[in-house]
Amino acid sequence: MGTNYYVTVEPPCPTCGRGGEDAHVGKSSAGWRFLFASYRDRGIISASDWKEVIEVAGGFVHDEYGGKLSLEEFFDKVERKQDSEHPTNEDFGPGGREPYEYDDEEGYRISRTFDFS
Ligand SMILES: [Zn+2]
Repeated sequence: MGTNYYVTVEPPCPTCGRGGEDAHVGKSSAGWRFLFASYRDRGIISASDWKEVIEVAGGFVHDEYGGKLSLEEFFDKVERKQDSEHPTNEDFGPGGREPYEYDDEEGYRISRTFDFS
């Protein structure tokens, strides 16, 4: 449940429309703070890293249903969700929250795993 957001980091071929690459920015779930993905191998480990990536990619994200949002619209949405529930250790299995996600220095939730979509 929820809505996944993506940024096109490499556009498809303008001639044939093939190729291209989307990066998974994260997931919006009702009642929870936005959960950002992370790409440690690319140095994307915080919401501000994502801002930079989205800017470089042209300033837009899209959701899994094809909706397009500007960087500003997207972060407005994320901001509004920052008042929502924050998961506690009890919401995860034994070992708690730590193996799955953390808060970046601005308080945004960042996932450590890729299997949360
Ligand atoms: Zn082509």
